[in-house]
Amino acid sequence: MLNPKPALVKADRLLRAFGPAPGLTPRLKMRNIGGELPPKERPMDKTLAIIKPDATKKRIIGKIIERIEEEGFSIVRMKLVHLTKNEAKGFYIVHKEKGFYDSLTEFMSSGPVVIMVLEAESAIKRWRDVMGATDPALAKPGTIRRDHGFSIERNATHGSDAAETAEWEIDYFFKK
Ligand code: GDP
Repeated sequence: MLNPKPALVKADRLLRAFGPAPGLTPRLKMRNIGGELPPKERPMDKTLAIIKPDATKKRIIGKIIERIEEEGFSIVRMKLVHLTKNEAKGFYIVHKEKGFYDSLTEFMSSGPVVIMVLEAESAIKRWRDVMGATDPALAKPGTIRRDHGFSIERNATHGSDAAETAEWEIDYFFKK
């Protein structure tokens, strides 16, 4: 940059010395001073992921989290909880008319689950691709559900299916 404005030179020094300030204006954050920030910040999606009770019981929490990190997702929220049946029923309310609603919510409240918010570019679609089809028997080889799922119900993991559902599901478990 030719003849940078004094304010920008100062901002550059501050950025080098202390990293981006929390209150920095978005315009300054995007300026890529010193070439340390990506030239174009890509929008990040968030999705809700759950390691279901069949998987926590099999002690494969670590394996699934390792896979999540290998696939490039950032885990931005995480907690281990034992859902009550009512909490499971609330979460799966969209399925309340389905024949499997009672069995599903009984299963989801049968043991601890790990609930996470994952962040990545196209996180919703990518996490569903990594999980595989709902029915492990139909999931592609190498997907989590194919490798670790037991049945169409006990299929190791959950992932949001659309942007609106992701927002609703994240709020359901992590609203402050
Ligand atoms: P997902 O988005 O792939 O998780 O699938 P759905 O939203 O259709 O279903 C939610 C969850 O309900 C699934 O992950 C399964 O645990 C369970 N489920 C789906 N279909 C069936 C079914 O036909 N029978 C039973 N018992 N459970 C099912």
